[in-house]
Amino acid sequence: MESAHSRCIAWAKRHGARFAPDKYQLIHFTRRRRDPNGDTASTVHFNGQEIPTETTIRVLGVQVDTGLRWREHAQQAAQKGNTAFEALSCINASTWGPSMKRSRLLYTAVVRPAILYGSEVWGMRNNGNPPASSLIRPLKCLQNRCLRKVMGACKRTPTAALERESNVPPVDLHMEHKAMKGAIKTTDHPVTAKIKQVVDTVWTSLRRPAGGAPAKRRRSANPVLRPKTAGEGTRRQALIRVEEQAQRRPGGKPAGPLKALDRWLNLEWEQRWTRKAGRQKAATWETDWTFSAHQLYEGLPKYEATALFLLRTEVLGLNAWLASVGVPGVDKRCPSGWPAQTVRHILLFCPTHAESRAFYFQRAGRADLYGALSTPASAHQAARWLTASGLLGQFSLAQEIVKEDTSGPEGLAHLDEWTAVQGTERDHPPFGGSKFSKGRPLTGKSAHAWSDGVETTPSQQNACEAGLRVGFSFAKGASPS
Ligand SMILES: [Zn+2]
Repeated sequence: MESAHSRCIAWAKRHGARFAPDKYQLIHFTRRRRDPNGDTASTVHFNGQEIPTETTIRVLGVQVDTGLRWREHAQQAAQKGNTAFEALSCINASTWGPSMKRSRLLYTAVVRPAILYGSEVWGMRNNGNPPASSLIRPLKCLQNRCLRKVMGACKRTPTAALERESNVPPVDLHMEHKAMKGAIKTTDHPVTAKIKQVVDTVWTSLRRPAGGAPAKRRRSANPVLRPKTAGEGTRRQALIRVEEQAQRRPGGKPAGPLKALDRWLNLEWEQRWTRKAGRQKAATWETDWTFSAHQLYEGLPKYEATALFLLRTEVLGLNAWLASVGVPGVDKRCPSGWPAQTVRHILLFCPTHAESRAFYFQRAGRADLYGALSTPASAHQAARWLTASGLLGQFSLAQEIVKEDTSGPEGLAHLDEWTAVQGTERDHPPFGGSKFSKGRPLTGKSAHAWSDGVETTPSQQNACEAGLRVGFSFAKGASPS
């Protein structure tokens, strides 16, 4: 290494470059535990300066450790994810915030890529299998927390239901799928060929006694094959999966390997979900796998999407569920006298709500529970009815805001004054559009432009402002976090 370094220094001199020796880092790679203070403690000297060895170093944003076990990196990824989760929590709660579709996008496009950065390298073992569960557990936990924010769900909501309703696959499957796709895509890449060449050279030189020919004894009897690199192992595993998918549809039109891996992911996920579903009866478990449940939430404001999710999973603050999880002092009976206050009872039979229910459901036209919660029109009516019924305290503020009259300019008059002042102090309009600086009230369509990038209605805006109050009021009850 010292001789290689002196060649580098010679090159630098010729080209007028300079290196900073204080930035040098040295790491040994080994999984041997026999002699941690022997070989792994040896260092190199450059210009009389000793370079100490490290146990982990950061390479292109990935924390590389001595044994290539990736524990340090996974910990850092989870920490990064926690920060992103906090940010997501600031703009998302169960009854206010951007729509489910948009907050889902925030998770899949911002939070998840941050925590899974470089997982093609650290997310697979050399034999192409996924890493130990202890490595993935913090990431699973993190995804679960984020999806609860996205769907407005309670803490007790089963992870499988969260993933299904939000259409976000389990994080370990997603990681494996991503790594296998990456391996397939880089099969013919020149860098892949170069890595193979270098690894082969290193392996051959290691099998050769110092200064001599390769050891003949080994080669003739039982040649020791070079162990696969993580990339090669993942690629082999990916090809096995692609082959399996091709065999599942004999005679069918052969799909590309990437499409086949997509199908593999979907199938694995379905199998897990079916096992979890068991004999559970809530609408989410009854819905056929081929139906995209997340489409039901399209077009609903956050609080109604939350209501629909609660109805579909049946994990919500109705007496039957609260009693089943042992909330003290809760009787599972409905105040109307029925033995259990369940989603089925309140949505189809409870006499207390017969009138309001008829008002919402006459337009939906579905009379069975599963049908009511699995077709967009009636599911939206059911969600609207639940938020308006007053059965769950968490929606009371959202209802107040809905009933509030925000049509007139009076409520936003102070904004009008503010924009007028800003308009005189600046050369350009404060919000990019000239219509805002002319002192026109921010109502109707122009009010939509107020929060850039996240489409919200004026009532949702108010809901956001009042968010802390909502958060406080439902933190007291046994309702969603
Ligand atoms: Zn009842």
